[in-house]
Amino acid sequence: MAKIIKVLKGTKDILPQEAEKWHKLEKNALEIFTKYGYKEIRTPIFEVTELFARGVGDTTDIVNKEMYTFEKSERSLTLRPENTAGVVRSFIENGMARLSAPIKLWYKGPMFRYERPQAGRQRQFHQVGVEMFGIKEPSADAEVIVMAAEYLKSLGLNDLEVEINSLGCPTCREEYKKRIKEVLKPEFENLCEDCQNRYEKNPLRLLDCKVETCKEIFAKPEIQKVIQSDFICEECAQHYTTLKSYLDKLNVKYVENKLLVRGLDYYNRTVFEIKSNNLGSQNAVCGGGRYDSLVRNLGGDDTPAVGWAMGMERLNSLLPETEVQKLDAYIVSNSPADAFAFAQELRAKGYNVEFDLANKKFTKQLEKASKCAKYALILGEDEIKSETVSVKNLETSEQVTINRNEIEL
Ligand code: ATP
Ligand code: MG
Repeated sequence: MAKIIKVLKGTKDILPQEAEKWHKLEKNALEIFTKYGYKEIRTPIFEVTELFARGVGDTTDIVNKEMYTFEKSERSLTLRPENTAGVVRSFIENGMARLSAPIKLWYKGPMFRYERPQAGRQRQFHQVGVEMFGIKEPSADAEVIVMAAEYLKSLGLNDLEVEINSLGCPTCREEYKKRIKEVLKPEFENLCEDCQNRYEKNPLRLLDCKVETCKEIFAKPEIQKVIQSDFICEECAQHYTTLKSYLDKLNVKYVENKLLVRGLDYYNRTVFEIKSNNLGSQNAVCGGGRYDSLVRNLGGDDTPAVGWAMGMERLNSLLPETEVQKLDAYIVSNSPADAFAFAQELRAKGYNVEFDLANKKFTKQLEKASKCAKYALILGEDEIKSETVSVKNLETSEQVTINRNEIEL
């Protein structure tokens, strides 16, 4: 026998029995985001590597450790690890800045990161996300957060916590970075290797570290004092306060978390995460924030922007199991040509219908019908002659014979 080839580690098939849950994730996204005026964008799943190096940031784990990069025709290409950089590239390339603001986009699709596979962490996974360009006011931040909450609620997920924080602007953050570095300096030797590497280039990222010994260090009173201090400038503070007042007014519950800095380099001011208590250690379903300098950094005009991405596998694992949908009807007949023609008539009316392509015995067909359909539509010799059909309700076993054109399921 030929050798069986298996799916790669960290990747998964989405099997037919799971399709319904995925359809729900996608359908609700389309419906809800459309209500808020968002239009779908689909960008390629590979781009030049430089886009991610500049767009995601070369001090991030994503760019340093997790990218699927390959050479083709002497160019370095990368499978997208996230979609914001691609959307921003497309925004600039297609002159979307000329459209009247806000420009509201959403996407869904596979992302690729070379990570250690574990529960809630795959190498190919899916994200659904939104990006809004052109509005610097906190109403935009509030809108994307409210929309995320509405989307999660539509999926029946109420037991989630929204965490928010403000990272300030590059100016006020500089001072904060300095103070963080200063207070952590005596602990440098005790930090994990990742934290030591990030200390110079991206000290805020240290606060995000999941290593227990680092968390203990950050919990020390003198370090907490710096972390919990209000470092952000007047303008950033006003922005943050207004965002919170919108969330209060719109009844979106949130908690403030000063340790929330997010993994990506491009955020300023608002950052947020939505977490579930039912997901174990990979508990974030949504991450996002404001990124006012990214469009400029990728060569476009200065354009404020805010957005988020959700991990669809993590959402999926929180949804209740669904039963596989039954067919409306299964046609039982030993005249495949009549069954086929009748099936086409019913399909044209919008019903989900099958018949036995292999023309097995009548009893076998009835058995199959009772497993997979709500009704058996019997076309025996008599029914074919009289252009009728016997409709058997497979739940109640009631059976009536009617004219074929009168059928309603
Ligand atoms: P994490 O802290 O879990 O690594 P992240 O900060 O890398 O998350 P983002 O880049 O903000 O995540 O992506 C947004 C969401 O995408 C996450 O909240 C999560 O739900 C999902 N996600 C990220 N990486 C993976 C992965 N490898 N497998 C499955 N889902 C993922
Ligand atoms: Mg990650």
